[in-house]
Amino acid sequence: MSRKRIVAGNWKMNKSLEESQALITEIRGMVRDEHRGQSKFIVFPTFLALPSASRLLEGTGIGLGAQNCHWEESGAYTGELSASMLRKVGVEYVLVGHSERRQYFGETNTTCAQKVKSAIRHGLTAVYCVGETLSQREDKSYFKVIEEQISEGLFGLDRKEFAQVVIAYEPVWAIGTGLNASPSQAEEIHAYIRRLVAHQYSEEIAADTSILYGGSVKPDNANELFMCPNIDGGLIGGASLKARDFIDIAKALR
Ligand code: PEP
Repeated sequence: MSRKRIVAGNWKMNKSLEESQALITEIRGMVRDEHRGQSKFIVFPTFLALPSASRLLEGTGIGLGAQNCHWEESGAYTGELSASMLRKVGVEYVLVGHSERRQYFGETNTTCAQKVKSAIRHGLTAVYCVGETLSQREDKSYFKVIEEQISEGLFGLDRKEFAQVVIAYEPVWAIGTGLNASPSQAEEIHAYIRRLVAHQYSEEIAADTSILYGGSVKPDNANELFMCPNIDGGLIGGASLKARDFIDIAKALR
């Protein structure tokens, strides 16, 4: 996937099936009326809502993503879903390594690397999340943490596979806390990630990689974040649960 301006909504464990359908219908209407073609929209509802979301989003240009996948095709992995199962219901993107999955479900850079590989093998784009905790920011180890997350999670991919990756920088201390990184804090890490990619692959591939910022993005702070040269859009949690806010955040991408 070439570099794109993207606004992606991670709904987490929110919205019943009916509520998800209603929110998708609302977003779909607003994108059609106001913003078609201006930036790439992606929504990540719960697993439960994916098949009907896929039908509702058909022909709209809005991408559909899942919040997680397993790295195996099938088997004795109770409670899990594979990338191929997701692909078959119309999913195009999958979040890998969200900090909540790292924190509550024991995901590591190693398991993330396996998930990214499997997602790509099945034709999905992996949206790979990285970010430091508050203590890692305070003890200034965050460059090292990000470098490990990126290299261990992604750098086993060849160039062709890497083209199927979007990176999301989400400082853990900014997720759901109302504390967003300042534009200069975010830009510093985005530029650093792009340098890591250039060093591993090439300047051209780095320039072609979409790197999103996530962490308490709202309509009133999106503009200053999205103006930064290395920030290609946002992964939005709480504010993506309201169609109006989600669309207003996307307006800042113009
Ligand atoms: C997220 O969970 O990816 C996120 C960025 O959440 P929020 O926008 O609510 O901080």
